[in-house]
Amino acid sequence: MQSLTEIKALLAERGLRPRHRFGQNFLHDHNLLNRLIDRSGVQRGDLVLEIGPGTGALTEPLVERGCRVIACEIDRDMCAIVRQRLGDRVTLIEGDCLDGKHAMSPAIVAAIGDEPVTLVANLPYQVATSVMANLLCDYPSCRGQYVTIQREVGDRLAALPGGDAWGPISVTMSILARVEMVASLPPSCFWPAPEVRSAMVAIEPIQPRPEVDMAALSPFLHTLFCKRRKQIGSILGRSFPFPSGIDPMLRPEVLTPAQILQLLAAAGTME
Ligand code: SAM
Repeated sequence: MQSLTEIKALLAERGLRPRHRFGQNFLHDHNLLNRLIDRSGVQRGDLVLEIGPGTGALTEPLVERGCRVIACEIDRDMCAIVRQRLGDRVTLIEGDCLDGKHAMSPAIVAAIGDEPVTLVANLPYQVATSVMANLLCDYPSCRGQYVTIQREVGDRLAALPGGDAWGPISVTMSILARVEMVASLPPSCFWPAPEVRSAMVAIEPIQPRPEVDMAALSPFLHTLFCKRRKQIGSILGRSFPFPSGIDPMLRPEVLTPAQILQLLAAAGTME
């Protein structure tokens, strides 16, 4: 596994420094890297998606364990390092992992095909929420996501109704997945150390997948939560067919996932 000294040397010998705009905080704690892979349960032969391999600190142990890794990296200097160290032992996609905010890059989609895939990654903070939401909502073949992310984002993923963190991503997660906070990571696990704590999180889709109109869910949640302190009667309008038992005077921030799904179904009857 790459030591911190090695990671620094890989950059220094190419005249590089960590790029803040790409969220380059390299995870150099070997126990945590192993724990992330162990928690993912990936086995020899499994298809793994890694977003942002950087110098390959996580990619290399995944490849050594016999996983077939698809790694997508936006920084061409990092791509050169991965290519030099792993060659064709990894499928490297050079470019942005996202196609806009709401879709994965077509190159990733093509590389995965219809195969079951597991996300294992130390995610760049700028794209973390979009990547996790896209994979969960649009790729039922993604069997799990095992990631390190900002602690605050982790809190939102695992939030419950009633708190400030309860919002569209928490609702989506609670409808479609089980979210587990595996560990809390201090800034010192990364180089350079970020200003905030991080979290290791496991997101495992509920099986069988609940029947939800995915195309309608996201805009509906947006409508509800962009006015989270207003009453749902005022947000959805007087003519909205409120299901019995859901008081129009409730606020979005206290609605349970089951109530939100009832409201979504009622909204569907209006068209
Ligand atoms: N995997 C390495 C590790 O654990 O030390 C590096 C992780 S670092 C937090 C995030 C990586 O994601 C960086 O290498 C960065 O260049 C890359 N990255 C940032 N934005 C990206 C994007 N939109 N698409 C693909 N890679 C991206």
